[in-house]
Amino acid sequence: MRIAASITELIGNTPLVELHSLPREGGARVVAKVEYLNPGGSVKDRIAERILDAAEAAGQLHPGGTIVEPTSGNTGVGLALAAQHRGYRCIFVVPDKVGDEKIRVLRAYGAEVVINPAAVATDDPRSYNSVAARLVAETPGAFMPNQFDNANGPAAHYDTTGPEIWRDTEGTVTHVVIGVGTGGTVTGTGRYLHDVSNGAVEVVGVEPVGSIYGGGEAHPYLVEGVGEDFFPPTYDSQVPDRIVKVTDADAFATTRCLAAEEGLLVGGSSGMAAAAALELAATLSPDDLVVVILPDGGRGYLNKIFDDNWMHASGFDTTHDTATNTDRA
Ligand code: PMP
Repeated sequence: MRIAASITELIGNTPLVELHSLPREGGARVVAKVEYLNPGGSVKDRIAERILDAAEAAGQLHPGGTIVEPTSGNTGVGLALAAQHRGYRCIFVVPDKVGDEKIRVLRAYGAEVVINPAAVATDDPRSYNSVAARLVAETPGAFMPNQFDNANGPAAHYDTTGPEIWRDTEGTVTHVVIGVGTGGTVTGTGRYLHDVSNGAVEVVGVEPVGSIYGGGEAHPYLVEGVGEDFFPPTYDSQVPDRIVKVTDADAFATTRCLAAEEGLLVGGSSGMAAAAALELAATLSPDDLVVVILPDGGRGYLNKIFDDNWMHASGFDTTHDTATNTDRA
């Protein structure tokens, strides 16, 4: 019989699927690793399990303990899922700019959510980092995973995401394209693929224009879950062979194409990574194989990227939606 003992056993081993409509003729094949098929709907399920395993082994988390993390998104879902079946309480501190739907998702999984003003400085006692730190200090048995400074994030990808890509491509992958947020995915996956291929696999990190990993000035952008204005410890700048920047406009146009032409309803960071992967593939040969990671699904973005009014109000064109590649021509 094939019956999982718990939903968390089903994390990882996500499939690769060929992108057939978007890649240009003559370029490399592009295949997507579909991380929204994880039980919590994102790549972050992988790190949550690993972080809790390590915290338990290190004696930082005991039965009846509480997990406190400033997070509004996918990491919160992953942690809530992992915490639920282990019997921990979860408290997430989120800024008030976060949409109601995301908060309801966290509460649905049984987490408590504390909402804080977004428009205060990071060192303000009302900021979400400050409130999370105070809750950890006040709550007996509290543990803060700290996803930007937890080596188990990259380690989870070194042990799972990287080996899956190598196994499922039977060692024929030549390029891997990965969006950079905390940097855990690119650092762990990229390090594994470098190690296993003796440096033959090229690792491409992707960030929004306005993020500083590849240099340049920090400024606001709309794509969510990727890009930073500082270098977190979870990111090893030695791993990516290069960093590519993608505009919000390209990221969102590609996100919409992935849904409309490839049947992949994914989030904006997936469109961002796919835009970079397609551009790269066009410069390569049919013997090359590009793997791009799609970190989460698109249902959390229906009121934004998939809403024409929002797109137009945000200054984005939607007229090229179905004309393959015209926006990149
Ligand atoms: N895309 C989305 C939607 C995410 O939530 C994240 C995680 N912040 C990433 C991409 C980037 O992953 P990482 O933090 O491992 O760099």
